[in-house]
Amino acid sequence: MKLTFYGGTGSVTGANYLVETDSLKFAVDCGMMQGSPTAESFNRDPFLYDPSTLQYLLVTHAHIDHIGRIPKLVKDGFNGKIISTPETKEIAGFLLEDSLRIIDADSRKKGVLPMWERKDMEKAMSLWQTLEYHTEFSLNNDISIYMKDSGHILGSAMIEVKSSKGKIVFTGDLGNSPSLLLNDTEEITDADYIVMESVYGDRNHEPKDVRKEKLKQAILDTIKNKKVLIIPAFSLERSQMILYEMNDFFENGIIPQIPVFMDSPLASKITKVYEESKNLKQSVLDEMKAGDDVFKFPKLKFTVKADESERIDNTPNPKIIIAGSGMSTGGRIIHHEKDNVANKDATILLVGYQSVGTLGRKLQDGLKEVQIYGENIKVKARVDTITGYSSHKDSDHLTAFVEKAAEQEKLKKVFVVMGEPKSSLFLVQRLRDELNVSAVNPEYKQEVEVEI
Ligand SMILES: [Zn+2]
Repeated sequence: MKLTFYGGTGSVTGANYLVETDSLKFAVDCGMMQGSPTAESFNRDPFLYDPSTLQYLLVTHAHIDHIGRIPKLVKDGFNGKIISTPETKEIAGFLLEDSLRIIDADSRKKGVLPMWERKDMEKAMSLWQTLEYHTEFSLNNDISIYMKDSGHILGSAMIEVKSSKGKIVFTGDLGNSPSLLLNDTEEITDADYIVMESVYGDRNHEPKDVRKEKLKQAILDTIKNKKVLIIPAFSLERSQMILYEMNDFFENGIIPQIPVFMDSPLASKITKVYEESKNLKQSVLDEMKAGDDVFKFPKLKFTVKADESERIDNTPNPKIIIAGSGMSTGGRIIHHEKDNVANKDATILLVGYQSVGTLGRKLQDGLKEVQIYGENIKVKARVDTITGYSSHKDSDHLTAFVEKAAEQEKLKKVFVVMGEPKSSLFLVQRLRDELNVSAVNPEYKQEVEVEI
């Protein structure tokens, strides 16, 4: 079996791997590259293989850096089957729709043709079939797949590809278990090869009890000083985690109730998928079954329409606004930041990873002045960061994951991908030194032979 790395190398984003045998050709993930200077050309350039020759596209999870180029793959000739868990398919539909809006606006601004169009997305959805966790599916007579819960976001899967000769596992992204909402990352114990992520390959997260306390203190400070608390949050997973924490604070009387606005139509739609999924962790399903909608509490308002969003201004402090995008690169959060970055009665609370170059990163780095919609604004708001809400395993837990996988001494090689070079290389070295595992950091377009 030949494996070629067509993305997710030297970068967290852009995941795309091609697998070829004599009788089968498929890809795993087809993501957009985000945040790097080469992203634009990477995303727009033709694929380096012929999409029309693929029989399948397997999708680990619905983040845009794993699904964002699927409609382009279809536009360029893919006509096979797309396979993911049901939750991944449903959430991907919402995220691609959102992505289409951004692509359209961007291409109009630049006067270029869009990377893909609505009809490509619609065709992609029509080719998409779902596979539940723990169900075997044959790609052909020799090779089958099996999905395990990676615990990263709702519906996220590790995809095992196996033949009579062996097994390769594509981890997708690996969750920061134990998670608030999701089942723990399942163990991999009998793989010959692993293609694994390394976003936090070189560092560890702050402890989980610290994050909830920090969030509580930020809200208490907001109430005491009659402030506005602005939380830029990814619409998928992070928004639901924050709602879940607040549900506990407000419904169990830990904090007095104040108005909270979830100002993101996308987060509203995705939250519904969470409410209806059977793949949340058991304790959360039990809470829901007992009658508590864990994502809703009395003073929470989902503001869907634009005029509702504008009216948030009329609500007096103290109040909380949660909006996307998580790195303040677009979406409604920008308006709230523009209105409040110079407001000393505002706190901007960063709860997610902030890429270099984004407005979120500039605020996090403590810049005294930022540019929003072409206007230079002095930063007077307080800016705080909580790192503990990450949905990715940290360095210690990535290492423990491989340690378990290497127990049976079957593991031949770990391909460390989906990280900045510094993180990936650190993890490669750690796996070699601490576990004596053969680990490598493949390069873009590198081909490897795997014996399965
Ligand atoms: Zn992800």
